[in-house]
Amino acid sequence: MVRPAKHVNMAGLDVEVLSDAELQEAADSEDGLAIVCMRITDATVVVPRSSKSLCQRCQEPIWVSPATQQSKPSNARLLCLQCAASIGAFRPDSQVTTSEGVIAEVRKAISE
Ligand SMILES: [Zn+2]
Repeated sequence: MVRPAKHVNMAGLDVEVLSDAELQEAADSEDGLAIVCMRITDATVVVPRSSKSLCQRCQEPIWVSPATQQSKPSNARLLCLQCAASIGAFRPDSQVTTSEGVIAEVRKAISE
């Protein structure tokens, strides 16, 4: 699938930014979808009204931002950055993503 991809750098990891529709599409694909969240121990910026959850791979506590809670397809997995990075290392085709809403609220949290 070819689409104009937007990328952001989150803690050294290249993360693709998807719209909500693209998130759902990716979650429905065979490879599934992992949404990247910051570990609570690593978070330098916490988006207001984030909720706590657990990485579905290593069980570390992570922050799930309001936009992620809203846009996350029910079949998507939540992973911490470290797990996302390690999966990406041996499966370069796996999708590690965040949503446009998350980027916007992180930018806002940083600028406040
Ligand atoms: Zn993890």
